Amino acid sequence: MLSTSTQLLRLSQGQLNLLERCPRQFQHTYLQQLNSPLNPEYQEGQTLGSRFHRLMQQQTMGLPIESFLQEDAQLQSWMKAFADAAPEILTDANSETFRDSEHYRTLHFSDYLLTVIYDLLIADNLQAQILDWKTSPKPPNKRYLEKNWQTRLYLYVLGETSEYPPENISMTYWFVQSEGKLQSIKFSYNTAAHEQTAKKLWELLSKLTNWLEGYQQGEQFPQVALGNKACEYCQFATRCDRAQTSTNIISAANPASNIDNTLLNVGSIQEVSL
Ligand code: SF4
Repeated sequence: MLSTSTQLLRLSQGQLNLLERCPRQFQHTYLQQLNSPLNPEYQEGQTLGSRFHRLMQQQTMGLPIESFLQEDAQLQSWMKAFADAAPEILTDANSETFRDSEHYRTLHFSDYLLTVIYDLLIADNLQAQILDWKTSPKPPNKRYLEKNWQTRLYLYVLGETSEYPPENISMTYWFVQSEGKLQSIKFSYNTAAHEQTAKKLWELLSKLTNWLEGYQQGEQFPQVALGNKACEYCQFATRCDRAQTSTNIISAANPASNIDNTLLNVGSIQEVSL
């Protein structure tokens, strides 16, 4: 949610993804708050994802997790998959390693406050790793994930708010799937990628500043070009007078039937919202 409580607009990766995807959709969603209710299937997935995030948080904090596991066979199978495939994530072998779950950081950038929440941050005197849990049914393509603002923003903010050189920072997504399968996708970082992200952020946020100024004068944020696939499944198609191009108008919150939404939603599905 946008906030002006600190005199700065607060932006998360999900908002950057939406802004890049369609500025008008950003306007409808965050400025006008016109979202339709989530469909039940999506909501169920979100609830389970939130439970898994809480479980991993309890585990990292050294709090008991047995009651969580007893109640839920799905969580049991995911936890077992983690214990088998990546025990180092669950156990803190080195007391000098910094580990923090739901680690919150902000970065003042231009007129905005960029916010991130790392599911788990593990850092020592050499390197820092950002870990993110996903309970989405199918991991997305790595190339798409790399372009997603969650990957770009999470790495960038750590690079800007810590002493670690970008080359010593990484981000790994862990995908836990319903049948207990575990898959990870890791992104190493570097100075060139850091500079590239800074450039992209300046470009995108400069546009946002202009659009917000226009909005205050009664102008609408730009729409994507006519015929853009994003409109086909957008919940605002009728409002935008794009319904005639829609072949299957559904809630944008339904990732299963929206290919383009894969990139947008990868950061928000089963994610604890900012
Ligand atoms: S219908 Fe198209 S132009 Fe309108 S908000 Fe949705 S994606 Fe953007």
